Amino acid sequence: MTQKKRILIVEDEKQIRESLQDFFNLQGYDVDGAATGDEGLRKGISDYPDLIVLDIMLPGMHGYDVCRRLRTEGYKNPVLFLTAKGEEVDKLTGFDVGGDDYVTKPFSLLELHARVRALLRRAEKDVPEEEAYSFDNVSVNFTTYDLQVDGKAVKLSAKEMELLRFIVKHRGQVLSREVLLEKVWNYDSEVSTRTVDTHILNLRRKLSDTPPNRYIQTVHGVGYKFVGGL
Ligand code: CA
Repeated sequence: MTQKKRILIVEDEKQIRESLQDFFNLQGYDVDGAATGDEGLRKGISDYPDLIVLDIMLPGMHGYDVCRRLRTEGYKNPVLFLTAKGEEVDKLTGFDVGGDDYVTKPFSLLELHARVRALLRRAEKDVPEEEAYSFDNVSVNFTTYDLQVDGKAVKLSAKEMELLRFIVKHRGQVLSREVLLEKVWNYDSEVSTRTVDTHILNLRRKLSDTPPNRYIQTVHGVGYKFVGGL
């Protein structure tokens, strides 16, 4: 079963936000909304959606600033800007701050959906699953499940290997416990965020990941960030 793609709609106009949420829900996406730039930034970082639809003219934080902040915080998935016709839009600035595409209001939902699909497809191609990864004195092969630390074989459980593979794939990104639960444990109801912490602890121990230069960093109040080999 393929996982539902998660989209965050950041739009201050309630009517537009809600109709976009309804539309993408009907199309089979898992959709969340944010009414301000600050809320969008917070949700973007902690929930790490597969794509963000981001209105440019927002009260408080401007859409461009939201996008720039998302990128500096490590958000790497596509950002699609919404702009109103007649708005002073400098598309180059939009791409400079890390946006991937634009749709101008009023737009057709079908056009927006086509752009969203194209961005999601491109994003999937951009991040290939790696079969193996090495950093410092660690090398891991995700197909044979071999892990070597300082030249010695170390055994990981299947879940620990899956978790390592996921954080390696998303290295440099802040990953919340909720996202790890969803992506690595597939929302197993038996599992709580404590399980994530326990597995991270075990992984750190097995990787000989010790302070001060940890491979798996704790991001307080959010989750974890893997920085091995970066
Ligand atoms: Ca607006």
